[in-house]
Amino acid sequence: MFSDLILSCPHCQALARMVLPEAVEMPGMITWTDGWQTAPGLARAPRATLCPTCSRAFWIGEANQLGFASREQAPDDPAWATAPILKPLDENGAQQALDEGLGSFTDLELELRVLRWWRGNDPFRCADVVLGYQTESAAVENMERMIAMTADGGEDLLLFRAEAQRHLGRFDDLVETLRGVGCSDYWPAKSRLLELAAAGSRKLDVLFLPLEHDPSLEPVA
Ligand SMILES: [Zn+2]
Repeated sequence: MFSDLILSCPHCQALARMVLPEAVEMPGMITWTDGWQTAPGLARAPRATLCPTCSRAFWIGEANQLGFASREQAPDDPAWATAPILKPLDENGAQQALDEGLGSFTDLELELRVLRWWRGNDPFRCADVVLGYQTESAAVENMERMIAMTADGGEDLLLFRAEAQRHLGRFDDLVETLRGVGCSDYWPAKSRLLELAAAGSRKLDVLFLPLEHDPSLEPVA
C-alpha cells in the first residue's frame, strides 16, 4: 500500500499532495552527458515545487508536513482527498524559484541552476534532434552562472561545468576544466566529453546506455 505526503504551502497554507515515488532506480537507465538519468517509469520526489494554489515557489523541506494519506483509503480529513498533486519544477518553474529567492544560499542556487539546465535540455533527449543544446539568452546566462559557480567545485561538478562549456562551444575551456577530474570513477565520463569536444559536437548525448542494452529503450524522437 502506497502513501502520499500531505503538506501545506509555506506561503498560503493551502494543502497539497506529494506523490512519493515507488522506486528510485529502474532497469533500462540511460545516463546523459549532462548527468541526468532517465528510465521508463522512473519518478523522483521533487525537492522544490510551485504551489498549485498560490503559484509561488517553495522548497518541499520548508512546507508543513501534515501526514501521510493512503492511495487506497479515503483519508480521515476530507480536505486531504482533494489536495492537488505537486509537480516537479520545469525549466520556467526553476527560473521562477531562482527569481523568488529560493537560491539564497550558494548550494541551493547551484541546485536550481543545474535543475533549470537539465529541464532545458529535456527536449534534446531523443535521437535525431537537430539542435542539441540551449541557445535562448536566459538559458545561456544560466549556464554562464553555473560555470562561474563551479570553478573550484568537486569533480562531479566539474563534469557539469565541462558539459555546459561544451554546449556553449568552448572546447578549450572544457579541456582545461577536465584537467581537474582525476578520480577513476569519472574517467569514462571525462573521456566521452573529451571525445565529443574533439569531434566539435555541442549536442547533448548519451553517456551510458543500460548495461543490458535493450533496443526498445533507445531514445526516440
Ligand atoms: Zn501557496
